[in-house]
Amino acid sequence: MCGIVAYIGNKDPKPILIGGLHRLEYRGYDSAGILVCNNSEYQLTKITGKVNALSKMLETKPNIAPHLGIGHTRWATHGMPNDTNAHPHYSNSGKLYMVHNGIIENYDTLKMELIKRGYSFYSDTDSEVLVNLIQEIKVKENVKLHKAVQLALNQVVGAYGIVVCDTFNPKELIVARLGSPLAIGLGESSFYVGSDATPFLDHTRKVVYLEDNEMAVLSKNGKINIKNIISDELIHPYIEELQWSLNSIQKGG
Ligand code: GLU
Repeated sequence: MCGIVAYIGNKDPKPILIGGLHRLEYRGYDSAGILVCNNSEYQLTKITGKVNALSKMLETKPNIAPHLGIGHTRWATHGMPNDTNAHPHYSNSGKLYMVHNGIIENYDTLKMELIKRGYSFYSDTDSEVLVNLIQEIKVKENVKLHKAVQLALNQVVGAYGIVVCDTFNPKELIVARLGSPLAIGLGESSFYVGSDATPFLDHTRKVVYLEDNEMAVLSKNGKINIKNIISDELIHPYIEELQWSLNSIQKGG
């Protein structure tokens, strides 16, 4: 088990992501990475090892004043634990970035198909296959990112919690879940995402837990849209107000 964090809004995502990844360290991991992005630039930082090392590496990079970020702690299932296989992964276009928890069981069939269509792969992960499948569908079907994610997930066999963004149009985060938990924190015109709620408890107590086969579009303007990945049915978000303290959660493990 490993971890996902993400943020979109008006604050600097870096401390939110690093703080969130620290909170998820209890799950175990072998590498960590984050992507941050503003309207014209993005910055990818990945490292084998601890979140502290990732944080130090980040300090050496220029501040691009980002408003969106996705972060990950990896527990390798496909490919060695190394910097290249660490998440986030990106599509061949260099536009789409994704973090993924879980396993894409039919990744080799999908990968063969994509290679036939001219795609190349830099990592050994199943996750890189999924982000390229999303790109392929987005271009081929000429659909918006959320639709491409939905169509791609309908071809996938396996388990996932994912967050996807388009660095060339960084107005939204697309999150989806099947078998790997994802919590969405609702802030002031902002959204937080975590494998559980602990990464963002300092920022908001309002949480929506995605159910299996659900995906959400989280927009920079504060709009949230949830739908069922298979049936396309819109789902009204059920917002919970969390009462527990961080202390009690941490003591309870
Ligand atoms: N299967 C993916 C990989 O090996 C994700 C592993 C995870 O859940 O951290 O990169």
